[in-house]
Amino acid sequence: MQKLRSRLTPLALLVLALAAAALGQVASPQSVVGFHPTDDKVVADWHQITDYFAKLDKASSRVAVKEIGKTTNGNPLIVAFISSPANIKDLEKYRRISARLADPRTIVSDAERDDLIKNGKTIVSIACSIHSTELVAAQMSMNLAYELATANDTDTKEILDNTILLLIPSSNPDGVDIVANWYKKTLGTKSEGTAPPELYHHYAGHDDNRDWFMLDLAETQAITKFFWKEWFPQIVYDVHQQGSNASRFILPPFYDPVNPRVDPSILREVGLIGYKMAADLQAKGVQGVATNSTYDTWWHGGFRSAPYYHNSIGILSEAGSANLMSPATIKPEDLARNRNTRGLPNLLESSTNYPDPWKGGVWHASDIANIEMIACRSLLQMAAKFRPKYLRQFYEYGAANVKPSADDPVAFVVPAGQPNAGNVSRFLEILMAQGIEVHQLVKELHVSTAKSVPSRTEMPLGSFVVFTNQPQRPNVLSLFEKQVYPKRLLPNGDAEAPYDVAGWTLPLQMGVESVPIWQVDGAEASSLKPLNDINQARSVLNLPGQAGPFGKEPNPLKTSPRVGLYKGFTGSMDEGWTRLVFDTFQVPYSSVSDADIRSGKLDYDSLVLPSDSENQILNGLSAERYPAEFAGGIGDAGVENLKSFVQNGGKLICFDQSCAMVIKRFGLPVKEALAGIKRSEFYDPGSIVQLDVDTKQPLARGLGPDTAAYFTSSSAFDVDKDAKGVTVDARYGPLLSGWTLGEKYRDGKAALVEVTYGKGKIVLFGFRPQHRGQTWGTFPFIFNALEK
Ligand SMILES: [Zn+2]
Repeated sequence: MQKLRSRLTPLALLVLALAAAALGQVASPQSVVGFHPTDDKVVADWHQITDYFAKLDKASSRVAVKEIGKTTNGNPLIVAFISSPANIKDLEKYRRISARLADPRTIVSDAERDDLIKNGKTIVSIACSIHSTELVAAQMSMNLAYELATANDTDTKEILDNTILLLIPSSNPDGVDIVANWYKKTLGTKSEGTAPPELYHHYAGHDDNRDWFMLDLAETQAITKFFWKEWFPQIVYDVHQQGSNASRFILPPFYDPVNPRVDPSILREVGLIGYKMAADLQAKGVQGVATNSTYDTWWHGGFRSAPYYHNSIGILSEAGSANLMSPATIKPEDLARNRNTRGLPNLLESSTNYPDPWKGGVWHASDIANIEMIACRSLLQMAAKFRPKYLRQFYEYGAANVKPSADDPVAFVVPAGQPNAGNVSRFLEILMAQGIEVHQLVKELHVSTAKSVPSRTEMPLGSFVVFTNQPQRPNVLSLFEKQVYPKRLLPNGDAEAPYDVAGWTLPLQMGVESVPIWQVDGAEASSLKPLNDINQARSVLNLPGQAGPFGKEPNPLKTSPRVGLYKGFTGSMDEGWTRLVFDTFQVPYSSVSDADIRSGKLDYDSLVLPSDSENQILNGLSAERYPAEFAGGIGDAGVENLKSFVQNGGKLICFDQSCAMVIKRFGLPVKEALAGIKRSEFYDPGSIVQLDVDTKQPLARGLGPDTAAYFTSSSAFDVDKDAKGVTVDARYGPLLSGWTLGEKYRDGKAALVEVTYGKGKIVLFGFRPQHRGQTWGTFPFIFNALEK
């Protein structure tokens, strides 16, 4: 079949597509893009995918395609609504029902609720390929849409009648193009199947799925608005791929630990759908499907975890990868080596959560697509068959959240008079953008800040209040509270790594003060006014208004340094996030390549090395797999040029991992304090830790003596007391949110150090001052370091 298709000329395809259109038929993906999506060695770029969906929109009364925003690079971000023709005609009616059920306070009686449930449809979203090298799902989305648009069996009809599918062909369209173009360019070369030599999201790369509460990225902003302010899906399915040598498919239930702020009933529903998908795959003879493994539900900021904080069921699947669209040969011994996966100690042996092992073979993109198509249908069947149940539950979760709870604060107050008005504004904007309600004080309010002993504290005019008794109660609590990650050790005593970071408390990360409140003077309720627009808050904060949401911030630099930012070809996410911070704050900079450093072309006042390993910086990409123009890092010549740059008066600013390379290669009088400590002794996978800041230092301008900073398997330094030309600007203090095993190893160690080197200076940040674009509280350190 494939041979025949590939022999059709573009003209023949056009004729076929036109004939189909003339007959009122829905054109297949192959008749539009020229090949069957998910076949070996072919890939559709974003233009081809959106073109197909536009044709589907025109030809099928079951499909309506909508652009919900522009991506970072200006591409259209689209959603295909797929349902019965009758439902598609009435989308706005069903959107309104879902929105009403999302906020039980809008429903006046049980009869009204029952009526909404009776008349509503289950809103389900399937979102593909947020991670662009996991590209099969984006290709598969065309086949899925075509199948749902054309099939007439009873199962499909039941799905179409009872659900409205919001199909997102890619949550990162820019990356579809970056990866598809690279793949096409390198087909048949030594680079075939490799990742592109750049981040597949302009700023975030793989971290584009770490932004779902911070909303730094255009894509997260648009989808968050679409989901949690407009459509309120009851089920969200995020389709991913994992490494080639892993299980063939991972489904929920997930692994431990669970986040105590996620409703246990939601976790049960997540597990139920996961098991249904696994059972359906087994029934079709698919081997290698695992549950209860690898991924936990602790972390807040992923695509499938955000739904838990919006009373919705979030599903993740991870298919074993091919080599992009080229087949991979996987041997049993490759699978046998994969022994460190949580919940899956041996991929060649069966276990309760992995009853039918896959023992290796040739693995095609079409194998992945086959699994994903079965999984999508399985999920849609659940959503259709149990439509009233899902709608009722969704309502019930929200209804429970709006009731007061004696165990939790009634509200969090963001008090007036904080020094960082810009941070406060962005913080409130982030909350409101994900549908959290914020109130503003129009006169003073009296509150009790203690749980057990009632007190009467005055909250000044200009403060903001976020109540917890709103439909998104878990979201409010999980963003404001400090996380206490359970101490989890492996049988050998080593710390067990969580899937992602352990702590994220947003006010701490952003340097915003917030106070939990246990009681509010009821008589003063009239002093509160809902905040409907961030510009309302900006005027209270005396900030100049801004034209659009998530606008640019004023450049904080007092001088005009020439700033260089190192950018290799390894696709450093830390580099991307640094760029995001510079762009947000309008700090001018130039990207500096490996070749620039190798040739000593370093005409800058300050040069920033983002957090990358010595190997990444020095050696870059391998010449065995990449063309010469992308291969090799800065090399030894580059290190010598960096030394001359500093000796001649330049400033080299190093973040976290890159400090090790500079300390070693420059022979600095600073030691890495945590290097070589066993994981049974010290471990911190991502937490917020207090810094004791020497506020007399110019690098600490605008920062308090106790500043919260982000530590994620980061660095700490020992500095010899007698060392000349070394200044310690900040030391590590106690853990504030997350998990640190063996805090004593880090406590009191240097966190931010300046070293004089020749006529210049080296700044060593042990922590991540710009971690994932979230740590607004420590951005000032970076700006101070950049100053001339
Ligand atoms: Zn992924």
